[in-house]
Amino acid sequence: MKKTDVVIIGAGAVGSALARELSKYRLDVTVIDKNEDVGGDISKSNSAIIHTGYDASPGTLESQLVVAANPMYDRITKDLDVPFARIGAILPAFNDEQFEKLPVLKHKAMMNRVYDVEYKTGEELLKMEPELNPCVKGGLYIPRESIIDPFLLVIGMAENAADNGVHFMLSTKVTDITVENGSVRSVKTDKGDEIRAGFVINAAGLYCDEVASYVGKGDYYVTPRKGQFYILDKNTSCRVSTIVLPIPTKITKGKLMCPTIHGNMLVGPTAEDLLDKTDKRTTADGLASIAADVSKMVPGVMIRDTITQYCGLRAQRNPEGLNIDMYDDLAGYVNISGVRSTGLTGSVAIAKYVVDLMLQNGLKAEFRTDFNPIRRGTPRFDELTDEERRELIRKDPRYGNIVCRCETVTEGQICDAIHRTLGARTVDAVKRRVRAGMGRCQGGFCGPKVIEILSRELGIPVEEIRKNEPGSEMTVGNIR
Ligand SMILES: Cc1cc2nc3c(=O)[nH]c(=O)nc-3n(C[C@H](O)[C@H](O)[C@H](O)COP(=O)(O)OP(=O)(O)OC[C@H]3O[C@@H](n4cnc5c(N)ncnc54)[C@H](O)[C@@H]3O)c2cc1C
Repeated sequence: MKKTDVVIIGAGAVGSALARELSKYRLDVTVIDKNEDVGGDISKSNSAIIHTGYDASPGTLESQLVVAANPMYDRITKDLDVPFARIGAILPAFNDEQFEKLPVLKHKAMMNRVYDVEYKTGEELLKMEPELNPCVKGGLYIPRESIIDPFLLVIGMAENAADNGVHFMLSTKVTDITVENGSVRSVKTDKGDEIRAGFVINAAGLYCDEVASYVGKGDYYVTPRKGQFYILDKNTSCRVSTIVLPIPTKITKGKLMCPTIHGNMLVGPTAEDLLDKTDKRTTADGLASIAADVSKMVPGVMIRDTITQYCGLRAQRNPEGLNIDMYDDLAGYVNISGVRSTGLTGSVAIAKYVVDLMLQNGLKAEFRTDFNPIRRGTPRFDELTDEERRELIRKDPRYGNIVCRCETVTEGQICDAIHRTLGARTVDAVKRRVRAGMGRCQGGFCGPKVIEILSRELGIPVEEIRKNEPGSEMTVGNIR
């Protein structure tokens, strides 16, 4: 039987942040994920905002951890070479009812110790965002709400953890956790492995209730809350430069419009309670509701400039709330549940909180002196000067071959994405790492070339190259 000190179930934002945090200690750590790639399920499809926590429920663990996490992103994104920008958010009120809610929201921000929230007049907001509905009466400005590349954040944390010695077992589902004399003993997988571990952390996102039931701690259940989005073309004429948020309701933060870190416009999400954890379809009704709601705030929003739509499933815990638990009658087991709408942001603070909890509850671990926090990023060709481009092409001519025209992604970048730590094995994994296929044509031009490069670099036939998970092979063979 294999042995490890800590097993983390799940390589999403939470599991990857935990892997990186634990890699700072002298420990043997193994991350297991059922998916083919790191990056999680929910962590791949969200609004990509690093929240301040201004509107969290004061006094909750979620508010504590989101507020603590926000300032950490300046350092983490530098260390891991993840695109990040503190563009700020505005919360405009367009009628008296909304305007009257502003003091309550500002007070909430104060209770959450987000003291830099400010009132702005309608005039000031229109100066900041000329595309706003001109009947805006005033609103709040939250300067530290930020945008990030969510894929590279999670991949970056996982890669850096792996470079610091954490083992990753991908395409492997945990099917059971065994217990002996009141302590976790091992995890079992669908590959027939049994891995002995002193600690097991359940960071399984939407499926954390299923994993908790393996050890009899499933006293809650998780339902998906669907969020659908539009991504608009970079050239769309109606743009905003901050995150434009609606006044939130009890159920959702509402539908927003903001730039993505790569210059598209993001519009959405919906909030639809479902039962099926696999239902990731976008729907005509859901998308229509986004267009209707967002155009009340930004009347000129050009939905017809859509280049793609997507949908993510928030893990709604019932009863609700972020819970991080260890148990007197089950030593070594850590249960993380209720990571719902702010988990991308919260992940880095959740990781610190969990590791401290483990250290207080029996984990013996020393700090390493050789932990390397830095991840070497893949060069982003589109952001380089002509001089930097020439230098790169001189060192490696593959950087002179543009494969994705929309996003100016080169063969050199795609090869780097494939051969680096926890490298890409599928077309989507390449896309998340270097953006080939993320542009206006959505891979119509570069898709076949990416398949060819993956096939050549991995030494496997093109027919076996997949879009993502098994069953998503993209070609059937040569016709000539
Ligand atoms: C529409 C929407 C908008 C959002 N917007 C934001 C935002 O702007 N900012 C923000 O901070 N947060 C946002 N969130 C929330 C955020 O995306 C999530 O809270 C966060 O990504 C959750 O990360 P996770 O690691 O818990 O889950 P996941 O990313 O789902 O990772 C869990 C992993 O566990 C694996 N797993 C599950 N069961 C098993 C098993 N038995 N064996 C092995 N592996 C298993 C899965 O394969 C998966 O990879 C949003 C979410 C949605 C849906």
